Order: sequence, then C-alpha cells, then structure tokens
Amino acid sequence: MKKEYDILVIGSGLGGLVSALILAKEGLKVCVLEKNNQYGGNLQTFSRDKLIFDTGVHYLGGLSKGQNLHQFFSYLEIMEELELHKMDEDGSDRISFGNESIEYPHAQGYENFVEQLIAHFPNEKQNLENYCEEIQYVCAQFPRYQVVGKDNYNEEILHLNTKRFIESVTQDKKLQAVLLGSNFLYGGDSENTPFYVHALTVNSYIQSAYKCIKGGSQITKLLIKKLRQYGAEVHKHSEVSEFIFNENNKLSSVKTKSGKEYIAGKFISNIEIRSVMKLIGEDRLRKSFSNRVMSWAPVSSCFSVYLVLKPHTFPSFNYNIYHYSSEEMVWNAFRYSKENWPETYMLSSTASKHHPDYAESLTAISYMDFDEVKSWEKTINTVAEEHERGLKYEEFKMGKAEKMISALEKKIPNLRHSIQNIYTSSPLSYRDYIGSFEGNMYGYMKNSDNPLKTMVSPRTKIDNLFLTGQSVNMHGILGVTIGAFNTCAEILGKEIIDKRLKQMIKMNEKK
Ligand SMILES: Cc1cc2nc3c(=O)[nH]c(=O)nc-3n(C[C@H](O)[C@H](O)[C@H](O)COP(=O)(O)OP(=O)(O)OC[C@H]3O[C@@H](n4cnc5c(N)ncnc54)[C@H](O)[C@@H]3O)c2cc1C
Repeated sequence: MKKEYDILVIGSGLGGLVSALILAKEGLKVCVLEKNNQYGGNLQTFSRDKLIFDTGVHYLGGLSKGQNLHQFFSYLEIMEELELHKMDEDGSDRISFGNESIEYPHAQGYENFVEQLIAHFPNEKQNLENYCEEIQYVCAQFPRYQVVGKDNYNEEILHLNTKRFIESVTQDKKLQAVLLGSNFLYGGDSENTPFYVHALTVNSYIQSAYKCIKGGSQITKLLIKKLRQYGAEVHKHSEVSEFIFNENNKLSSVKTKSGKEYIAGKFISNIEIRSVMKLIGEDRLRKSFSNRVMSWAPVSSCFSVYLVLKPHTFPSFNYNIYHYSSEEMVWNAFRYSKENWPETYMLSSTASKHHPDYAESLTAISYMDFDEVKSWEKTINTVAEEHERGLKYEEFKMGKAEKMISALEKKIPNLRHSIQNIYTSSPLSYRDYIGSFEGNMYGYMKNSDNPLKTMVSPRTKIDNLFLTGQSVNMHGILGVTIGAFNTCAEILGKEIIDKRLKQMIKMNEKK
C-alpha cells in the first residue's frame, strides 16, 4: 500500500521536525522519515552507565521569556513543557589559556557581559560597550532574528569579517582572544568567518543560556508528541534511498532502503545537501549549482570524550569552559597539529540528579579532521546498522581519550581519580548518525569575502522539493529553527508565517 501525503520530510533533525510541525499545524497531512533508531539528528542523546549524554547539543540561547527562541518554541507549543536549567548568569561560558588560572567570563545580559569582563579589563569599558552594540545591531539586520519584521539580508553586513571586526574593537590581544573564545560554536576560521556568524551565535547566549535537563533529545520528544497530536506520521528506520520523478520533472515519491514508497505533493529535505544532490541526480541539477556546492569546505568534525565520574568525587560547575593552549590558538583552533592534540577543548559538566553539587559526568570536545579516521571510512556503525569497526579503531579512540584526559589534567590535576568510565565519539560517529559529509559539525564554512557562495534558497530546481537544516542555513538550535520557519514561508507564503507569529506574540503579551 502506497500512502499519500501533502508534505513528506526527509530527515528528523531539528529543521525537519520544526518544518513538519509548522505545516501540520496548518492542517496539512505530513510524514517524516528518519534513517536512525532515534529521531533528532544532532539532538540525539545516548545512555551509558544509566547516565544520559548529549551528542550534539549542550546548551541553548535566547530561551528566556520574550527572547527569539522562546517565541519560536512557544509557537511550536513545546516551550511550557521544556525542562531547562539556567546556566551561571555571571559566566555561562568561561575562556582560559595555557597554564593561567583565570577563567574569563561571558556573562548573560549585555550589561552584565560588560561588567563581568571589566573586572579583568578595567580600561576596556567603552570598547566592550561598542562591541555589544555592534553585535545587537548586526543581529537586528537578519530576517526573522527579531521573529517578525525584517525581510531581506543587508548585503554589506554579510561581508564584515570577524577577525577584522574584533581587531578594530580593541587593541588588547588578550581581550580579542577572550571575545572570540567560544568560537568552537561555529568552527571559527580567522581569515574567513563572517562577523554575522559570530554575532548571531554569541548574541543568543548573551541573551540567556540554558541546558536541557535530561539532554537535547527532550526537544525532539516534545516536537514529536506535538506532531502526532496534529496528525502527522513519524517513522524511524526509514532511510530514503531513491527519488522518483514524474514526466514533468516533479518529485512524485521517495523510496526507503527497505523498499517502501511514500507519495507526496511536496517534499522537504532536512539531510546533508550533498546527499540530497545524489538522490536528485546530477542530470537534473544545474552544473553551476553542483559545482558551487561541491566547492564548499565542510566545517571541521570533532572528537568527544564522555567521562562517567565516581559518585560524589568531583564538584559540578554550571558553565562551559573553552580552553586554548595559548591566546594565538583562538584564531585558528581547528588547524591543529596532530602531535599536540588537543590544544583546545570545550568542557562541560552534568550535575548529579540527587547531589547537584557534584558532577555525574563531564564531556570534553575538540576539533578533529576526518583524515584522522580515514582508514575506517568504509565502516558504518550505528544502532540501526551495527558493525564493529575493529580493534585498531578502538585503540585509536582510547589513545585520543587518554590524550584528552592528560590535557584536562593540566587544569584539573586529580581528575583521573574521579573517572569511572570513558566513552568517545569520533568524526565517523557523527558521519554515521547524522549523514553529514565527513562528520562535519555545522555544515559548510561561510566566507566573508564571498558570503553568497554558501547561501542557498530553500527552493530547488525541482518545483516541489525544498531544503532546510544546517547544511543550507545558519546552524545551531536557533539558526536551524529560523531556517525551518523560512523554508515553510516558501511553502505557505511569508504572510501566513508572519501572521501566525504575530498572533502568538500578542497572545503571549496578554498572559
Ligand atoms: C558536537 C556538536 C555540538 C553542538 N552543540 C550545540 C549547542 O550547544 N547549541 C546549539 O544551538 N547547537 C549545537 N550544535 C548544532 C546543532 O545541534 C545543529 O545545528 C542542529 O541540530 C542541526 O539540525 P538539522 O536540522 O540540520 O539536522 P541534523 O541534525 O543534521 O539531522 C539530519 C537528520 O537526517 C537524517 N538523515 C540523513 N540522511 C537520511 C536519509 N537518507 N533518510 C532519512 N533520514 C536521513 C539523519 O539521521 C539525521 O537525523 C552542535 C552540533 C555538534 C555536532
């Protein structure tokens, strides 16, 4: 039996689920197909030793009342049920260098952000205020970052470069490094990263910073619950492996690996852009488009070390640490030397449920090139498709975990005594669980010299096929959510989306 839908969404990453829910709320018959055993893409969590670990999402910004992500999640009807934990307001991100004991805070709230940094840089008040003003100005120029309003990109702003901007804000090298300290959040590249990528990311966390209690998969579960309430279907273990076109070059159905066919009027691809191009087929795409996409450089991948801690041995901390072996590393952290890996890491802790003063686990992540795992690139290992990669791979991963723990010990001398168990994920895990090209973390590198090169419309050359997700939009929970609203605006009309969001804002104001 072939089923027919108004909208078929390929991939249940955040962008796919948000798009599906926006359209299901309009009464459309929607179906989402996911290849994995677990929905959510980068929102997936896994469980070891009865603890929950995030694979991709560690914290979210803009979730306080009246802020942008709060408004979008309210529209999606998941805000009230989200269980959140606010991070340290005086420094939800802390930046450290080499053997220095100082951790420079990125605080929540613009005034507080300046105030907390002035304690370390007393002569930089005016420069810090200018920095904050510019961040907010740039964010206000972006369509939908203010939820409703602005329609078009301001091209001039797209060309601003992060490094040049930061250098123009202050001459103080240490402060420059501190302001850039959380650039792991966007895979910062000193020469190319546009300033808007920096601004949109840090603005979100300066507004507010939260962790999801029980991990990012909570967002997925709530979205799926809502989708089902609105009559949508969501299927896992359903990898789309074939597109079927009609004689008018319209996509008429897709087939899954297991041979099931799904017919729909319109399709949204939430999967990596290179994978969807393969499914469409070269001959149906403009050569110039294919060449452009194939010339994009992926953002680096990463290696994560998950440490299960012995109970009540290690104090929890309510912030993320971004550590660099030196100030200079900040500008080019993803161009690391293998010998000295990891010269930089992001470290976060999860508080124990019953004894929140103690941490139950730590997660440390650092950049890793796909090249390092190339020997095993032909292997695939997920819960849905289980195949061991072999002893050598396990040794490789344990070697890296050991290096990470040694690096962490420079900051936390007795850490090793608190470790009960060690788990890891490599670029191959990210590639296999997400389907991202070479396990890239956030899609493709944006370039301030040529910002339009990596900008893609949600519309494709195939009339009834639309795109969403981090490989074609801004990444991150906020970026991908906004991207999904923009994709749906192409399908429903921008006026409808604006009207719905305005109605929701009005209702929230009355509450
Ligand atoms: C290590 C790491 C840390 C991060 N930390 C944060 C953070 O702290 N805060 C934040 O805001 N953002 C963070 N992000 C980014 C954020 O998680 C992503 O930008 C966002 O979740 C991507 O959503 P997406 O819609 O692009 O879907 P993706 O997450 O890319 O999911 C795509 C989905 O499509 C499925 N799929 C692929 N091919 C097929 C197929 N053929 N058929 C069916 N299904 C298919 C995949 O299995 C997957 O479920 C992090 C990312 C990483 C990697």
